[in-house]
Amino acid sequence: MREYPRPLNRLVNELSKLPGIGGKTAQRLAFHILSLSDQEAGELANAIVGAKKSLHYCSICGNLTDQDPCIYCSDESRDPSVICVVETPQDVIAMERIREYKGRYHVLHGVISPAEGTGPNDINLKSLIVRLQKDDRVKEIIVATNPNIEGEATAMYIARLLKPTGIKVTRIAHGIPVGGDLEYADEVTLLKAMEGRREL
Ligand SMILES: [Zn+2]
Repeated sequence: MREYPRPLNRLVNELSKLPGIGGKTAQRLAFHILSLSDQEAGELANAIVGAKKSLHYCSICGNLTDQDPCIYCSDESRDPSVICVVETPQDVIAMERIREYKGRYHVLHGVISPAEGTGPNDINLKSLIVRLQKDDRVKEIIVATNPNIEGEATAMYIARLLKPTGIKVTRIAHGIPVGGDLEYADEVTLLKAMEGRREL
């Protein structure tokens, strides 16, 4: 990188660590930020600090929340007998978009991936077992991990893990294209995938 003043170098460097932001884009963003008024730049910085400070993971489901338990875990009108297991908080948002699902959630924050060295203990899975031991209202676990090798492997692992509990474990149907992302699936596709789920 050409020698910029040190504070600018630092800004470019931090921005370039963001996903999908290459060096050129980082520079463009940095110069854009510098062109903002002090107030605008302050709001951007405060939004980052504020979000980091006030958001944490729900102690029950692992979803990102500013209250604990999160709005889904504390909403008594939601069906406590069904838990939909997803990879990320963004997937919860995607599921909520279809408006048909009224159960609870569990967010794994990843998937089992031997290739990446991610095992069952590296994702938010143990807390699901603890949760099921404490809550005997749960009758079905819907595994809505993404339809790729890791997502399928994680679904199979969860099905095997829960077999002794007698709780029904289902997998969403393949309405979502293989290799596709739940997060980006349209509502109709997601709804069909939920309705066509099968037992594992
Ligand atoms: Zn929660």
